[in-house]
Amino acid sequence: MRFIFFFLIWGVVVTLRAQEEYGSLMACAVNFMSVAIFFHASNKKLLQVYSVPVVLLVIGLPFFQLSEVVLIGHYVNLSLFLFFCWLGSRMLYQSSITSFYNSLLLTETNENLAQIISEKEEINRELKEVNVQLKKLATLDELTNLPNRRGLRQYIDKAMQLPASKRTLSFIMLDIDDFKLFNDNYGHFEGDRVLHLVAQQIKSCTADANCHVSRFGGEEFIITVFDQAPEAVFELADCIVSSMGKLKILHEFSTVADYVTVSIGIATGEVENEVQIEALKEQADFALYEAKSRGKNRVEVAKEKTADSTIQY
Ligand code: GH3
Ligand code: MG
Ligand code: MG
Repeated sequence: MRFIFFFLIWGVVVTLRAQEEYGSLMACAVNFMSVAIFFHASNKKLLQVYSVPVVLLVIGLPFFQLSEVVLIGHYVNLSLFLFFCWLGSRMLYQSSITSFYNSLLLTETNENLAQIISEKEEINRELKEVNVQLKKLATLDELTNLPNRRGLRQYIDKAMQLPASKRTLSFIMLDIDDFKLFNDNYGHFEGDRVLHLVAQQIKSCTADANCHVSRFGGEEFIITVFDQAPEAVFELADCIVSSMGKLKILHEFSTVADYVTVSIGIATGEVENEVQIEALKEQADFALYEAKSRGKNRVEVAKEKTADSTIQY
């Protein structure tokens, strides 16, 4: 501000001195115009900067310019020139203010956009997490915390994706004996507790085996074993059935024993497609049916329906 003020005063002094020699207004005109172009300020500030130099020029001119005609010409020119300087200055000031507010608006819009984007990213991340949780929940049985049918399907699909043309697959299909009688006499709540206990027992019997335990529905469970010798699979089933005797969950209404027992059907075979897998499952189911019809609380193996393939407890 101070520099501009002295710059204008200097222009006025040079102009007044010039009146004695060549009578030009050029020096102060150049300074007034330069300030109008480069100094963008409000009307109030312009008045502060311009008023003293202009008053000085207007009052001083008659003392240095002796020709009355030239003096009148100077006043007319000066008035027009100052008006246009002010007009130009206003236009530049307005445009600088507009561009300043536009840049502010742009910055604010950019900040808002960045915030919206980060919020959307956060929502997407949460949605992905919820999706993962939902997928997990959709494959789990709520009561036993074991995988359900969908979980079993996923496990088999994944296992069959391995680069092997044929896989040896065993299904151990387990069903709780006389469970309806248990529910009818001890209540559904107790029945649920038994389902949970049996699931835990199956888990602990199969903890060391490379297999997949799932609740197939109701009081039925399936243990899925890939690439194991039939003897090992049989041993696993045998362990589960006999462990029920150790668990000894009282079932006075069982037609088999005075505790909860289970029956198992096993089927083992080479599979390479879904049809064969389903057929194998049906064989295991048939073997389970055999185990039931032969007195329950036992293991039955499909195909080899010899005396050795049945174990009764
Ligand atoms: P079997 O020895 O021939 O298998 O006879 P069962 O009584 O066990 O078989 P049945 O198919 O006649 O009855 C199955 C029972 O399982 C009937 C139903 O009340 C019970 N059940 C199925 N799902 C559940 C469950 O989630 N909770 C409880 N508490 N009971 C269930
Ligand atoms: Mg049953
Ligand atoms: Mg059943």
